Amino acid sequence: MYTFDMLVVGASGGIDETDLSAYLLKPVDSEWSDGIVALEAGSGQGALARILRDNPTLLGEDNNHCAADLYDSVVSYVISHAHLDHTSSLILAAGSCSGRRKRIYAAKDVLDALMDHIFQGTIWPQLASFSEDDASHLYLLKEIRLKYQPIHCDISLRRMPVSHGDDYESSAFFIRHDPSQKEFLFFGDVAPDKLSKNPRLGHVWAETARKFPEQLSTIFIECSFPSGHPDELLFGHLSPEHLLDELTTLATEVALRDSRKNTLRRPKKKQRSAGNPDALKGKLDGLRVVIIHCKTDLKTKIHPRETIVQQVKDLVKQAGLGAEIIAAVQGMHISI
Ligand SMILES: [Zn+2]
Ligand SMILES: [Zn+2]
Repeated sequence: MYTFDMLVVGASGGIDETDLSAYLLKPVDSEWSDGIVALEAGSGQGALARILRDNPTLLGEDNNHCAADLYDSVVSYVISHAHLDHTSSLILAAGSCSGRRKRIYAAKDVLDALMDHIFQGTIWPQLASFSEDDASHLYLLKEIRLKYQPIHCDISLRRMPVSHGDDYESSAFFIRHDPSQKEFLFFGDVAPDKLSKNPRLGHVWAETARKFPEQLSTIFIECSFPSGHPDELLFGHLSPEHLLDELTTLATEVALRDSRKNTLRRPKKKQRSAGNPDALKGKLDGLRVVIIHCKTDLKTKIHPRETIVQQVKDLVKQAGLGAEIIAAVQGMHISI
């Protein structure tokens, strides 16, 4: 039983401006015209217009969806950090917004960066504000707090800060369908804890383990570079080896959770240690990991995503963790 519909407008990282992080989301039981949450805003209407031209029935047989109408139905943008590959389409679209007033949800630093450096009259006109009382054509900037807060009918969001290279913060979001209490986890760009001055992923994995699998069984996480990419050239991103480390931490949290439960039930029986690799076998059975933000290389014929995803699959299989690994690709319609 699914709770969300997602349309992938762009899924890559890097220099291809036609395929940058951008995901449109709605509850499965509502219409796109009832209101859409845009997760990240790298690519936008131009990319979506091309996707719908190539696949006119992507959103159903009625074939009457157009990119401009869909973006008119966006009520909230959710932005993980201010980098241009996550914000450029909302900046470009700011002067031609129609439909309801659009809210931009992000950490305070991200909103300040957009206000002070972009919407300040030189790079781009002053088309955003922090005031509810301002005109409907201006973006309304709203800080995301660290507790769940509603961002659209039936959808609430909780932000957890994560590192994206030294001294630069990005976000992970728990996105909840309120009526069913089902959630998924969506990461902006993120560095591995092993290489972070301020490692914060442990908290995210502990929280994820608490909800897995009943409440939460899908994670979107970046893997920007292929295996063997030097650590000093990751610039706050993951490669397959580091992603495996992070998924192993999640599996360890799940094993600890299970052993605590078993201890409560059968206090005298000796538990398997979470330090034993066998204790992690199959611990992520039922988890779907969607790989995003693989960096485009326009000099190669094959998108590096294909190599990266296969490498992650092989590593997770060798470790026996049990998670299913798939890739988000531009134009996909994903049920969550
Ligand atoms: Zn970034
Ligand atoms: Zn990025």
